Formats: sequence, C-alpha cells, structure tokens
Amino acid sequence: MKITSVDVIHSKKQVLLSEDYKPAWLEPEGKPTRSFGFSYYKIHTDEGITGIGPYAGDPDSYVLSALVGMSPFYIEWFWSTCMVGRETAFNRNNYGGLEIALWDIIGKASGKPIYKLLGAHRDKVMAYAATNRLLKTEEHVKQVLEIMSYGFKAVKLRLHRPNPKDDLSTVKAVRDAVGDDLIILVDANQNNRSLCYNYWSRKTALWMARELDKLNVYLLEEPLARRDVEGLAELADSVDMLIAGGEHSANIYEFKDHLFKGSFDVLQPDIRLGDIGITGIRKTAIIADFFNKILIPHVSSTGSVALGLPATLQAVATIENCPMIEYPLDPPLLTAENQQLILKEPILIDKDGFLKVPEKPGIGVEIDVVV
Ligand SMILES: [Mg+2]
Repeated sequence: MKITSVDVIHSKKQVLLSEDYKPAWLEPEGKPTRSFGFSYYKIHTDEGITGIGPYAGDPDSYVLSALVGMSPFYIEWFWSTCMVGRETAFNRNNYGGLEIALWDIIGKASGKPIYKLLGAHRDKVMAYAATNRLLKTEEHVKQVLEIMSYGFKAVKLRLHRPNPKDDLSTVKAVRDAVGDDLIILVDANQNNRSLCYNYWSRKTALWMARELDKLNVYLLEEPLARRDVEGLAELADSVDMLIAGGEHSANIYEFKDHLFKGSFDVLQPDIRLGDIGITGIRKTAIIADFFNKILIPHVSSTGSVALGLPATLQAVATIENCPMIEYPLDPPLLTAENQQLILKEPILIDKDGFLKVPEKPGIGVEIDVVV
C-alpha cells in the first residue's frame, strides 16, 4: 500500500455559540469568539483506505515528499525522519495529526482499533473535565455540580485571576460544595504568552501550592513557565500535590530536563501540538516510567477534540502509567456534543467517569457527512 495524496480539510460546519467565549489563557486582554470550526488531515492510499487526523498546520514540502509514495506502515520511519525534534528557527512543526492519520490507515487496513494492534492495557480510561474559563465563584460551583451529574469524578479549574486570593476562594467554594469525593485539578496557565498577565513569581506559586494542598487539590498545572525547570523542581519538592506541565512541548526531548531535575511529577504531552503523535505519547510514557513519573496527556479544546480525543485514547489505552486523560468541557458553551459535531458518534463519559476506547478500526471514529 502506498500513500497517494494528503488533503487538509477545513469543514464548513461551524459551531455558533450563544455567548462570548474567552478561555482563561486569553484573560484579560484576548478577544472573545462566538464560533469554532473543524479542520483535519486526510491521507489517501492506492488501496482506497483513507486515514484521518487532527489538523495543526499545513505540512511543508519536505513532509509531503516523505509521505507521498510511502507505505503507511512505516510510521517509525516517518516519526524519526519528520518528527524527531529537529527544528529550524523559522517554524515549529506540528506533525502529530499526520502521524495519527497513518495509524488510522493501519488500523483500518487491519480491521482493528490502534490500541489493540499496539498491545492493549485497558478498554476504558478515566477522564477529568477541563473547564476553560474564569467565571464568578457561584457560577463555578453550579457548573462543577452539573459536570459531576454527567458522571465525572474529576474536574479542572483555571487560576490566575488578578488577585491570587480570588483563585483560592473559588477553589475553596467548589471544595466546600462538593466535599472530598471530587478530584480537583487546577491550571495556572503560566506558560502562555500574554501582554497583560500578572505572572506568578516563584514565591506566589509556592504560596498558592501550599494553600491548595490544604484544599486537597490533586494537581497544579503550569504554575511557572516551563523553562523555569529549577523553580518547578523546588515547588514539586515542597508540596504534596502533583506538579504538572508540558502541553506546549514541541517534541518529546523537551521533557528530558524536567525528568532529570524532577520538575514535573506529571508530564502532559499533547498528541497533536508539536511533533508528538501516538508514537511520541508512548515513547514519553516509557521514559517517564524510568523516573517513576506519570502522564496525563493534554487534549486541546473546541474543534480539535473531535479527532484529538480518540487518538489520545488509543495511545493511552496502551500505557500503564497514565491515570487519566483530559476531556475539554465548559458547559453551556463547550459541550461534549458541539466539540465533536463532525463525528457520527461523540465519545461520552460513563456514569463512573470513564471513557470507553473507541473499538472501530483505526482511531475508532468516523466523520459524519461534512460539507
Ligand atoms: Mg493547561
């Protein structure tokens, strides 16, 4: 089997939102949006099998030359030739979505979901609902209770309000409302770029982490810029909760310093952002295991969920050191259904807080008729 062409599809299907949506990482100065769309890759073969993967930028001519004429079974060759982490200063590569489409072809050619071809560890994975916005405290409490009613046992809240004490009072109000049953994760998004962020110092991050420990918070994500390896390591040593990060890592090699210095307890590679892919998630899990660390992969929100989530599920279903997966959800604006609108069947949480790994061949989901 040979690859004949690669298409980038920008679907005309759009989700129109009923009110302005602005994620926490754009606070305070970013522009809100009222819609989002869906883009993906389609890789065609001479045997009529087509693979799909989440889009993250147009492939350059080097990568297209590598793919066209290649057997889709040569994924490790593609990964080590096009995704190994050699970057020029001019552009950052994001070829995880293409690598996912190759796996999708292999799964379809074999009649199996990818996780069973690679060696399954489990058929379902716990998920945490990742909310995206900074809301009023009472709105957060109401929203978390609603999310728990769907079946979720873990929810992530966003931090970095202008006054960090307001972050704490919001987390405390949620903890008081839900009791000890809910696993609470928090994300400070301190690795994002902003003109108006009031960035945390190391001392603020330490103070916040110690206070959050008292509220039995499970995980603190990106409390400092990810380049501050020493500051993150001090923090990880000083508190009980897990310190997490790495969603913006361009490749798996960026985790090396974090593992040697102990700065992240939890690695959060994103299967689609950067040159990670299914192969990179699995390699990262093996390396993390050398250091007794775990993975909780990042899953991008809005239209990327549709193909990013099933691909990440296929990858982590083959991994032991991954206790849960991110599930972007911010009702009423971002729902399970609207973020997976292009799929024939959305992937939904069960009553115990787990996602079933899709069982159809490839990444396990099908795109509905889209124009
Ligand atoms: Mg994050």
